[in-house]
Amino acid sequence: MKIYNTLTKKKEEFVPIEDGKVRMYVCGPTVYNYIHIGNARPMIVFDTVRRYFEHKGYEVNYVSNFTDVDDKIIKKAIEEGTDTDTISKRYIAECKKDMAGMNIKPATKHPLATEEIQGMIDMISTLIEKGYAYNSNGTVYFRTRKFEGYGKLSKKNIDELEAGKRIAVEEQKEDPMDFVLWKPKKDGEPFWESPWSEGRPGWHIECSVMSKKYLGDSIDIHAGGEDLIFPHHENEIAQSEAANGVQFAKYWMHNAFLNIDNKKMSKSAGNFFTVRDISEKVDLMVLRFFMLSAHYRNPVNFSEELVDAAKNGLDRITTAVDTLTHMLKKDGRDEKLTDDEAKLLEEYKAITTRFDEAMDDDFNTADAITAIFDMVKFANSNADENSSVAFLDALKNQIIEYMDILGIKVEKEEEILDADIEKLIEERQNARKEKNFARADEIRDLLAEKGIVLLDTREGVRWKRN
Ligand SMILES: [Zn+2]
Repeated sequence: MKIYNTLTKKKEEFVPIEDGKVRMYVCGPTVYNYIHIGNARPMIVFDTVRRYFEHKGYEVNYVSNFTDVDDKIIKKAIEEGTDTDTISKRYIAECKKDMAGMNIKPATKHPLATEEIQGMIDMISTLIEKGYAYNSNGTVYFRTRKFEGYGKLSKKNIDELEAGKRIAVEEQKEDPMDFVLWKPKKDGEPFWESPWSEGRPGWHIECSVMSKKYLGDSIDIHAGGEDLIFPHHENEIAQSEAANGVQFAKYWMHNAFLNIDNKKMSKSAGNFFTVRDISEKVDLMVLRFFMLSAHYRNPVNFSEELVDAAKNGLDRITTAVDTLTHMLKKDGRDEKLTDDEAKLLEEYKAITTRFDEAMDDDFNTADAITAIFDMVKFANSNADENSSVAFLDALKNQIIEYMDILGIKVEKEEEILDADIEKLIEERQNARKEKNFARADEIRDLLAEKGIVLLDTREGVRWKRN
């Protein structure tokens, strides 16, 4: 398996630190509002990376943080006349709803910055002891020039960077490139006690600390959007490697930008969409499919026409699966493969192999999806009235398995037939007569799941579809 590593600017063979295991950290959102579709891209991309590793038999320890203390959260809390905790809790809950809608697996651990303050104080203390950080009137800065590898991820030269910087009058830095690890509170801001001041951490330190705590000093993959390469990830490397004395992450993965109608998404330009906005127009499975239709290192352009095209593409796949399901329901089919079918499955396998090859090549979901479309075409032209159960199953299961690696559900919910509903209602009535209320409730819940509502009337039980 090959991964493009931002650190070396090359595709490299993936070799995990520990056999059979992947430790990966993905920078998560700052929770002061609903997540926007720019946030959704890394979530979808790296969830798919995780699913592919799992498909390959790896055990993946996946950590993704929520930044729940930040200037934007404080601003929002002031606007609403409430506290930061209320804001961050609300938007973490909303973010989790959107993630579920996009079928993103919960991380192994979603740490919160505010619950990891002690770890941050400990790492900052270590950095001060080792001479990599200094306290200047309650603000702690990282001494950037002391860390030799600074700039190795973003390929930036520290002197060139510095040419564009000036020290603001109120700052007390030794060098313009030094960045904040801890800052004193301002009036009305949330704060924590520390050896340097009552205050709060800078943004970068939380990821270094959470990654160390939940994954260890060295991890396999650190990932995020390419806008995080500098300064966030550069600073994380400096903090972690200075504090721990070992390589921080072996592979650095970054997804490219998302544009809207070929323009940068921004609130001021009026082309800003949250995942929630999109969910009101299309199924979030379509959004996921759309995002994966491009290679993660290519920019993706979001437009109504392109989303429509993605919807049509996904419909073609779900329809093919649906057709195979209906064919399988027909009685009287042969169970076993015929010789001709066995030969056809060899051809099919040659197409399916292309899916794995594409994913093995730096998670090329664009080519992997092309392979799925070819599988669908193959199924549509080779499955018919006379196909065996084994043949139809083989065609169908492979499409479902691959779509599942992409995190996209393609099987339609089975519709419940009127006759089955009547039968279940009768069984429920009997269960109640026998005072078997557990079973009666079970049936009511089962029906509710299928969208069937029961109405107890004087004439007996009636039902309707919701
Ligand atoms: Zn981060």
